Amino acid sequence: MRGSVQIVRVAGIPVRLHWSMLALPLLAIGPGLSRLASSACFLAALFASVLAHELGHSLYARRRGLEVREIVLLPFGGISVIPRLEGSASDEMAVALVGPLTSCALALGLAALAWASGIALWPPTLLGRSLLARLAWANLLLGAFNLVPALPLDGGRVLRGLLARSADRVSATARAARVARALALVMILGGLLLDLWVALLGVVVLLAAGAEEHGAALSVACTGVRVRDVMVEDGHGLGADEPVAQVASFLGAFPGRSFPVVEGGRVVGIVCSADLGRAGPGATLADVADAGAPVLDAGAELFPDAVDQLLRSRRRALPVVSEGKLAGVLYRADVEAALRRLAQG
Ligand SMILES: [Zn+2]
Repeated sequence: MRGSVQIVRVAGIPVRLHWSMLALPLLAIGPGLSRLASSACFLAALFASVLAHELGHSLYARRRGLEVREIVLLPFGGISVIPRLEGSASDEMAVALVGPLTSCALALGLAALAWASGIALWPPTLLGRSLLARLAWANLLLGAFNLVPALPLDGGRVLRGLLARSADRVSATARAARVARALALVMILGGLLLDLWVALLGVVVLLAAGAEEHGAALSVACTGVRVRDVMVEDGHGLGADEPVAQVASFLGAFPGRSFPVVEGGRVVGIVCSADLGRAGPGATLADVADAGAPVLDAGAELFPDAVDQLLRSRRRALPVVSEGKLAGVLYRADVEAALRRLAQG
């Protein structure tokens, strides 16, 4: 995810921190610097609780044979990025349920610990003196809150899965998003009266529900669209051993274009006129080409696979091969135009 940094790997899964987390300590410390230490302690523990919730999702998803790309921690909770999860309603429902179950189990464990240590758990508190009691309640809240059936919260994913049993995915998502919007409005109005955090969260749910709906509609509109349908064909590319001095004027004539660089029939990179600036005297294309660019397959689905790779690579264009041979170039601008067209139907 953009705007996040990796802080640790757990069981091989990168755990990333979103920059907006930096604002969290400022909000939670509140008045009085003397509370700083205990707040920091509580925040760190809260953070670990959110991570445990996400690890519940992620590790269970992996057990079901799904690839987990990363976990991103945000002030509102976490996101487990599991690319193939939405392919199956039963996978999505089961994986969605495990997160809140993990939080509730943690809450129970912490409550048992508190009880054994003679710490009072009642009345419920997130601000009381005992860290253990606060954490137990925080985890219960985390679990219960995520069960609210408002997409993209876990409860909303379960609801969508249930709706998808009797309808296609797009209409199931649309109905789940309607429920989410209604709940978001309740959260915003209630939050304005009770707690601004809840109102803010309502706004996040409102925006995210719309994005889920859009994403589901787009993935249906893109069904059957392959990389080759959107790429610009180029079966030749440029030779890796070509001297930069010789191809500079040719590349300069096509300022917006990228050309795959080929060596022995294999794509070894991609180059555009802007890359030539860093060429020393006597350099060849192999020296200046972007060799780290991922290579796409012409037969791959455009959405979400190729779109995802294109966005993650942060490049304007990627080379495309078909059965191992160079086939063309996929431009980001063309993909964006195609997605806009498809989304409009
Ligand atoms: Zn969750």
